[in-house]
Amino acid sequence: MSSPVVSRPVLRFAPSPTGLIHVGNARTALINALLARRAGGTFILRFDDTDAVRSRAEYADAIVADLAWLGIAPDLTVRQSDRIADYAAAAERLRASGRLYPAYESEDELELKRRLQRARGLPPVYDRAALALTTADRARLEAEGRRPHWRFRLDHRVIAWDDGVRGPQQVDTASLSDPVLVRADGSFLYTLPSVVDDLALGVTDVVRGEDHVTNTAVQIEIFEALGGPAPRFAHHNLLTLPSGEGLSKRLGHLSLSALREAGHEALAVAAAAVLVGTSHAVEAVEGLDALAALVDLAHISRAPARFDPEDLAPLTARTLHMMPFEAAAPRLAAAGIGGGAAFWLAVRGNLTRFSEAAEWWAVVAQPMAGLVADADRGFLAAAAGLLPAEPWDAQTYGAWIKAVKDASGRAGKALFHPLRLALTGRDKGPELAALLPLMGRSRVAGRLTGAAA
Ligand code: GLU
Repeated sequence: MSSPVVSRPVLRFAPSPTGLIHVGNARTALINALLARRAGGTFILRFDDTDAVRSRAEYADAIVADLAWLGIAPDLTVRQSDRIADYAAAAERLRASGRLYPAYESEDELELKRRLQRARGLPPVYDRAALALTTADRARLEAEGRRPHWRFRLDHRVIAWDDGVRGPQQVDTASLSDPVLVRADGSFLYTLPSVVDDLALGVTDVVRGEDHVTNTAVQIEIFEALGGPAPRFAHHNLLTLPSGEGLSKRLGHLSLSALREAGHEALAVAAAAVLVGTSHAVEAVEGLDALAALVDLAHISRAPARFDPEDLAPLTARTLHMMPFEAAAPRLAAAGIGGGAAFWLAVRGNLTRFSEAAEWWAVVAQPMAGLVADADRGFLAAAAGLLPAEPWDAQTYGAWIKAVKDASGRAGKALFHPLRLALTGRDKGPELAALLPLMGRSRVAGRLTGAAA
């Protein structure tokens, strides 16, 4: 019996390592990574680093660290700077088939052409003058010391695709300039390497920002010119600042590292980055699998989405309130916090930042004098005398408080408030029923009698 062919998607996130990635880049990375994760597919991190001047190794390292913080581990990492020979081979094939032609105009000459076109009310599209050059013309230009850049000759036809977010799309490539694929210094712009890599790595789905819609029409032509199948495409809306201004890597807007340093939970940032600007409400999730289940390209809105960092504080709190112990455990251990699941489940509902767990651990596990008002000394000493013998469990507090209530005649705030202040030094916090067994009898008794226990 033949086994069914299960097609596993291959997706990629392809940042240029020219700055710190921001929350809009995280949106792209997460959608790709989570779609791959949900379908048992492959997620590739590809560094688009053919721009040797602006690309930096430390930015690539920072991107890896930012993705790791979000919980994303790529199945494969590739660098375009390692793959130049493949791009050169692809360019050679395009030259041989007449799709890549040399052009010699300088940037100033091109700018002048565009200005003249605009003055005549024409779109500033490259006029293909270079296509008319004869061998003799080219030899003369080269003899003047000019080196060609190389343009892809578009087919001037309507390119159509069914976009995962935007639905049926059409771009007439007659409205576009033939794109430069290779600079005069021989270096490659992003357009061709991206197609060569997507083919070589078997990418099935390109999910990226809508600023690439026009590129897609060009790239579909290049996929076809190289004889490969074009992948499926989906272009998600872009995130903006609350003011509506676009996010800029260069200007350092909402970088992941700044959000991390501000104490926001990675999972809260991830949930906001993925869910904002979709028909699904932005909500806290238990983990990336839960978030992956909420990703739906068809639910992404067409309009740009405003990202308000003010929303992250409450989302971080809600994320902590529902965080399972297993997710918190490695971080608690790294912070030297013990108490196991009992401690985490006792305090998580009171956290607005993960770092506050250490404050509650100190309350539970380190000597400290609670707050004891003179008027309550007798009451608290009597309560200490009523503490049951150990071992203590979740029922201990209930039994004790009943005894204290009966003996003192106090109820409500007069009963609970002095106990909480004496035991924790604060007037709000986790359930005492959960804290008591973690503190133990001698600490509780000591604090009730005003000692630094
Ligand atoms: N390096 C491109 C960018 O950061 C990648 C676009 C793509 O996903 O193909 O926008």
